[in-house]
Amino acid sequence: MERKINFNAGPAEIPGEVLYDVARATQKYKRTGLSILELPHRGPEFLDILEESKQLVRELCGLGDDHEIVWLHGGGRMQFCMVPMNFLGDGQTAAYIDSGHWAHEAATYAGYYGSVKVVASSEKDNHSRLPAWPAKLSPKPVYLHFTTNNTIYGTQWHDIPATQAPLIADMSSDILSARHDYSRYALFYAAAQKNLGAAGVALAVIRKDLLKKTARSLPPFLSYREQAKENSIVNTANVGGIYTSLLMLRWIKEKGIEHLETENKRKAATLYNAIDKSEVFQARVTEQAHRSLMNVCFTANSKETEHSFLQLCEQNNITGIKGHRLTGGFRVSLYNAIPYDSVQQLVALMSEFENNL
Ligand code: PMP
Repeated sequence: MERKINFNAGPAEIPGEVLYDVARATQKYKRTGLSILELPHRGPEFLDILEESKQLVRELCGLGDDHEIVWLHGGGRMQFCMVPMNFLGDGQTAAYIDSGHWAHEAATYAGYYGSVKVVASSEKDNHSRLPAWPAKLSPKPVYLHFTTNNTIYGTQWHDIPATQAPLIADMSSDILSARHDYSRYALFYAAAQKNLGAAGVALAVIRKDLLKKTARSLPPFLSYREQAKENSIVNTANVGGIYTSLLMLRWIKEKGIEHLETENKRKAATLYNAIDKSEVFQARVTEQAHRSLMNVCFTANSKETEHSFLQLCEQNNITGIKGHRLTGGFRVSLYNAIPYDSVQQLVALMSEFENNL
């Protein structure tokens, strides 16, 4: 069967070349006589996979030797837990920016471990714009956590103001999608299922000085310091998942971040222009500077119209554009792997649909 045009928010489209290599490795990994799914996690081949993946993260993020890079289990939500477990101690407060569902969840999870202060929120605007960045943080929190791209609501921080506190970012839905100054973060993390491969895996990058003192005694599995010391193999690593992430990183390097950024801007501009010109579709986020390049959210004039357009898309082999249940409408995810041609096909269908109404 023909592959669909896949605009899902995650698990998201994976480039055909990467899928081909995953399929081959599933049959036989190099000359090991084993599938990647059978490869020992402490064997030399997997150690090479770990080493190359860390090297590529360092190179693509423009980082030197000041950061530890770990691959962890449990996707984004496990990071919502690990960040406060490791860094939010007794008598301390962590600051969180609530710019949408995942940002809110991160703050809620942190509340299980210590005191949390929401220092900015876009809740009153139903997250259809970004909140104002907190000007002054007092008393100084142990860290400030924010979400660079709000996958559900379609907003994205394009300019990240300076801040006094160590900055921690959830970059699950826009990591490596454009040039970015990663050196400013004390820690950043990403669930892999959007720009980095398969669900269940998470990447975390932590500045080494942060690991000197952690908030509490933790089982090694949940400690960034121990995971770094043990090279992400405290327990049986997700060998197949991490290999898929390595293939994604190689693919990103081959395309080049600058090229991907140009393409991501071109895809988003084409779709937002089509929506802004339309009399049927309306963008959820009207403030241009707040619009996400990764997740374009919009609605149609009525629920019936939305339903008919969704049906038309499915008939035309286009899938994954139904909005999240919290927002309704549509959400088109335009991560690195989405070719410009897919956006053109969607825009053409939107225009045809509108003309036939
Ligand atoms: N953060 C962001 C920005 C996300 O978009 C998501 C999931 N879509 C998560 C965290 C949660 O990731 P997971 O489902 O892997 O826990």
